[in-house]
Amino acid sequence: MNTIRLSELNAIKKTIQNKSSIELLNWVSENFSNQAYFATSLGVEDQIITDMIVQNDLNIKIFTLDTGRMFNESYDLLAQTELKYGIKIEIFNPESRDLEKLVIKDGINGFKKSIENRKRCCTVRKLNPLKRALSDANIWICGLRREQSVTREDMSCIEWDGLHAIPKLSPLIDWSEKDVWNYIKEHKVPYNKLHDKGFLSIGCASCTRAITKGEDIRAGRWWWEAPEHKECGLHSQK
Ligand code: SF4
Repeated sequence: MNTIRLSELNAIKKTIQNKSSIELLNWVSENFSNQAYFATSLGVEDQIITDMIVQNDLNIKIFTLDTGRMFNESYDLLAQTELKYGIKIEIFNPESRDLEKLVIKDGINGFKKSIENRKRCCTVRKLNPLKRALSDANIWICGLRREQSVTREDMSCIEWDGLHAIPKLSPLIDWSEKDVWNYIKEHKVPYNKLHDKGFLSIGCASCTRAITKGEDIRAGRWWWEAPEHKECGLHSQK
């Protein structure tokens, strides 16, 4: 197969709708010769996908985005994951000139002043590096789950990413939080130590806080914004 066009997506959805997570990853590995890329944010869901890819020796490239504002614990986890699995996770950084211009224009913490500023920061630090990372990809894989936020509740396991003009596969889309933690414990998958301190969804250090019991999973991300705005843009292009 190697590539999928937008017009073929509905037929593909029917073909793969009953596959398990590992069956979906195997399907990708077998059908997208060397151009299937997995974008890991090092969150628990993504750590599970890394574990599945490595343990099953799948033909899927693993990369991450280093925004430059990550927690030390996230960098520690990146190093620990590479060591445990004996892999190299390719790292994509923001372009230095774009970053300099952003900071001159908005200030070092300008992302808190408005949603527009915040989206501009996410564009320079995340979206543009993602575009470079996916420039020759035919499909990308991510760890989204439907129950993570109101912006994700209508998603299916394969969606069209209009910005990159490729399909995006979410093999854990139906998993519950309990499913995730059961897998992490059962398979001894390394995870970010901040999860034990009340951080459920972990992004940049400056834009993530711990949450308290009863709060939504993503309440600690950009907590000063309304829930419907809480996407950095990585997963909102159709
Ligand atoms: S999460 Fe915050 S610091 Fe990170 S890229 Fe987005 S606005 Fe910038």
